[in-house]
Amino acid sequence: HPNPPVQDLDASKLRIELTKNPRTVPKLKSDETWSCKACTDHMVKVNWLEGKGWGVPEVVPYGPLTMMPTASCLHYATQCFEGMKVYRGFDGKLRLFRPDRNCARLMSSAVRVALPAFDPLELEKLIKALMKVDGAKWLPESQPGNFLYLRPAMTGNGEQLGVTAPSEVLLFIIAVPWPDISTGWNPSSTGAPKPPGLKLLTSQNDTRAWPGGFDNAKVGAKYGPAFVATMEGRKKEAGASNFFVVWKTKDGRLELITAPLDDKIILDGVTRRSVLDLARERFVASSEYLNSDVKSLDVVERTYTMAEVEEAQNDGRIIEAFVSGTAYFITPVSAINFRDAEMSIPMAGGDSGHYARIVKKWLLDIKYGNVSHKCGVVV
Ligand code: PMP
Repeated sequence: HPNPPVQDLDASKLRIELTKNPRTVPKLKSDETWSCKACTDHMVKVNWLEGKGWGVPEVVPYGPLTMMPTASCLHYATQCFEGMKVYRGFDGKLRLFRPDRNCARLMSSAVRVALPAFDPLELEKLIKALMKVDGAKWLPESQPGNFLYLRPAMTGNGEQLGVTAPSEVLLFIIAVPWPDISTGWNPSSTGAPKPPGLKLLTSQNDTRAWPGGFDNAKVGAKYGPAFVATMEGRKKEAGASNFFVVWKTKDGRLELITAPLDDKIILDGVTRRSVLDLARERFVASSEYLNSDVKSLDVVERTYTMAEVEEAQNDGRIIEAFVSGTAYFITPVSAINFRDAEMSIPMAGGDSGHYARIVKKWLLDIKYGNVSHKCGVVV
């Protein structure tokens, strides 16, 4: 046959090789977890070959990858990745939050940088398979309210210095305990630090995504070059998140605003999408969640500028601002550094704005199984 069918990713072929050298689970919130190096015992690996397609997926002991110095990803940034979490619920179950969206996003990032496509549902099955192997030890039932960070990634491998799409690709999934950087609601830890509110740094010199760039793909090539700016503003930025403002418009309407997706510049954040969905459902369409602090508002996705935010701030029209993302979760913003001046942002509810607090609670309830919701997918 001149063109044998290429094999799609197929989780049902999964082979499992268990480790003979189990790793030690770091203590919650220990220094080791802050360094994000203590990966779980196992990882998933699948190879793809041009003309053949996806090989047999494997769960193997966590360890180094091998590749030739000529590997495409080392030279041409043929790489993409995802960030998601698995949560130990208060009902003892393990849950992923909208994993279909992360799997679909990895797929669209991959094809944007000439890496192969796959069936996102099969990737979701592989993520669940890894959690079936490592979940009980690394996220014990005795510690509900915790999570592991999951990092599915793809790299162009193989011996190939030629300036062309890689003919050999690796898809891998690793999992790592990670402290809660949003210092959020964790009922098991009494006296958890109160979130002070994030101070954001806006940069006029650095742009991670631009029209005619790599669209909204989640590729390493966008993140590494921004490290110079992020080191400069280490404590001031939340680069891996989406940004929301609640403000009064000039004509007096209350609005929750965030940048749109249609120009493909900002990342289609899973948390962003969830905030918008819940806000439209519960702030706009229902009165159940409204009170004197949380009033009905319009939910708007449109391009808006820092100049508009500054003007609103000068007019006293800003109600609150927050960022959303898998890592930062929902974190209130207390200040924005814009053109070297610090603009302070109100947090009417004390350590958070009222809207950020209620949105965060809704999402926590889904992730940790306090409520049953289609976005909380049991492993
Ligand atoms: N924007 C950027 C640039 C990011 O890296 C992330 C983190 N993936 C987000 C937004 C938030 O996306 P999500 O809610 O899917 O984590």
